[in-house]
Amino acid sequence: MNTPLTAISGIQQTRAKQLEALGIHCAEDLLTLYPRGYEFRGNIKKICEINGDDIANQTAVTLIGTVSDVKSKFIRSNLTITSMRLGDTTGSVTITMFNQAYNVKKLRPNQKIAVYGNVTRGAYSLEINNPVFTVNPDNDEDFFKIKPIYPLSSGLSQNIMRKIVKNAFAITKAPLENLPAEILEKHRFPTRKTALINIHFPKNEVDIYAARKRLVYEELFIIQLMLMLIKTDKKTAEGAISFANSNNKIIEQFISSLPFELTPGQKNAWQEIKMDMDSPKAMNRLVLGDVGSGKTVVAVLAMLKAVLCGYTAVFMAPTEILARQHYNNINKMLDRIALPNGEKIRITLLTGSLPLKDKRQALDEIKQGFSHIVIGTHALIQAGVTFHRPGIVITDEQHRFGVKQRELLQNSDSNVSPDVLVMSATPIPRTLALVLYGDLDISTLKGKPSERKPIITLVRENEARENIYKWTTDQITRKRAQVYIVHPLIEQGENNMLSAEENYKKMTTDASSPFVEKNVSTGLVHGKMSARDKAKVMDDFVRGITSVLFSTTVIEVGVDVPNATIMIIENAERFGLAQLHQLRGRVGRGSEQSYCILITKASDGPRMKIMEQSSDGFEISEKDLDLRGPGDFFGTQQSGLPPFKIANLYSDTDILKEAQQDALQLEKNISKYDEYIKYIKSIIPSKISL
Ligand code: ADP
Ligand code: MG
Repeated sequence: MNTPLTAISGIQQTRAKQLEALGIHCAEDLLTLYPRGYEFRGNIKKICEINGDDIANQTAVTLIGTVSDVKSKFIRSNLTITSMRLGDTTGSVTITMFNQAYNVKKLRPNQKIAVYGNVTRGAYSLEINNPVFTVNPDNDEDFFKIKPIYPLSSGLSQNIMRKIVKNAFAITKAPLENLPAEILEKHRFPTRKTALINIHFPKNEVDIYAARKRLVYEELFIIQLMLMLIKTDKKTAEGAISFANSNNKIIEQFISSLPFELTPGQKNAWQEIKMDMDSPKAMNRLVLGDVGSGKTVVAVLAMLKAVLCGYTAVFMAPTEILARQHYNNINKMLDRIALPNGEKIRITLLTGSLPLKDKRQALDEIKQGFSHIVIGTHALIQAGVTFHRPGIVITDEQHRFGVKQRELLQNSDSNVSPDVLVMSATPIPRTLALVLYGDLDISTLKGKPSERKPIITLVRENEARENIYKWTTDQITRKRAQVYIVHPLIEQGENNMLSAEENYKKMTTDASSPFVEKNVSTGLVHGKMSARDKAKVMDDFVRGITSVLFSTTVIEVGVDVPNATIMIIENAERFGLAQLHQLRGRVGRGSEQSYCILITKASDGPRMKIMEQSSDGFEISEKDLDLRGPGDFFGTQQSGLPPFKIANLYSDTDILKEAQQDALQLEKNISKYDEYIKYIKSIIPSKISL
């Protein structure tokens, strides 16, 4: 089914290269190069009908009129500017064209033409720059049709692309149907062929709507079905490790040694993990829990179970800061118990910033099987790490590490696949979780350890900043509070945005700053600093040596400083709600009352209100999903899924839900769809299997 691009008339090597730059490798690829928009050239207006909205929203309009005052000016060899007036019975506009001298020569005075372009307000009249135009509006039907707008690479123009796509349809076989007949019927979808033709060459907006809906559904339905099949395959494969023989007494001992009782959510997740681990089938489970829901203990329980069976547990965190913190905390937790032979559990830390000597030693400990638990960053999946009997691999905080995880698993001296546990603090709505993590079983950690005081969230405008900082200083000097101040940028960039460096400098040197006045100790941490410098600054903050930490979102994930009770977020409108919620989760970890203060522009009220009103991450993410346009802050980019060609996980939720229900239904009646399942399995890209 791969027709070479050069088989399309008008495509030679050069053009083929330009198309390859867009990821187009064969004629069939062109059929699914979906337009990113359309020119609605049927929107013909009288000049007096052009309104403020057309100008403000840059809605292109079509005008028909006669030309006068045509003047061409030769500026330099590759720039000729032609200007003219276009008038109809209701008014006139100025038209400017670049390098159209050849076409413009064909214009006679008072010739009737049609133009299509964006209108701007000029000094003397309305203007249209570089419109597309036809000198034959009465007979040029094609000009007024809806035109697709394609992504381009250098050397390509919309006109060329339109021709190429049209020609691609002419030489490829009829696009085959890839949805079951029942589904087409149920939703009254157009066939795939009709949908593809209409998405490229629609006759009207109804065509576009119907075609898009079908193609979005198709994309989501197929990926969902693929993920379900992968999950079922993994679940039924035998030959993984069973940890059924772990010494349960020691696990019980560990649980009772904790300074708290496990929450019902933790107990529930642990129950599900235990069942997975006891079975000889591989565990592929996601623990989805809000910040502060206590995921770490659950991970430690799973690691302990593996260690008690003589396997190594591997724990991978996304940042050095987190890896180090887990190393310290987990060491403390496990210090209260011993293995049946009386030995203490040995934990090795491996991160990129370890001095060479320590790194060698760590690698050696890991390889020799000295370490029961290995905690680290991406350094764990770099060459040179060999695990001794890895039994369970846990990754913390939302990164799927997908393909890389497999590399990691291959670096061991055993052939058995370890169990896999993924922990995410992004409380994504269930519909999204089913796509982003569709190949995993999901445990949802609901509820929080109870003794926490709810965080007080306040939304304030820029004018209040001075007072906020004064109040903060007061809290620091009177209550020894610690404070995070988070910024969207590291350095001075766009105007009206306070960067971390800038604010740090101002607040630590300006004589008028309350921090200077009261001698408040401060630190600055951001992503451009070396790992060692970052660790030093964080360490000072964790140990209470500094009271205020200026930062970017590097502190976002997992950092635990119970004494930190104030979180100030500058330019809060720059963050997604889910991200704000994560940031807020850095405070409220101790017994004192905590505050989260969002400093923002007045215009962003409604979104911020949600933050004031809700502390439930799942609820916030649901609302965010309703409010937000396209974007990517649930981390689809990192999810390891192939990028979607037409579906938008955020705005197409309704279609997504239908597709998910149908996929589930189909999987239940799998025997009826033998051929179809075989087909779906044959097109699963290698990239999405973990
Ligand atoms: P997260 O889910 O964000 O990773 P952590 O595992 O870091 O949360 O836990 C946050 C804090 O809550 C830690 O200080 C931890 O000791 C504490 N904690 C965990 N479980 C409980 C519990 N059942 N009761 C009280 N405190 C708990
Ligand atoms: Mg955590």
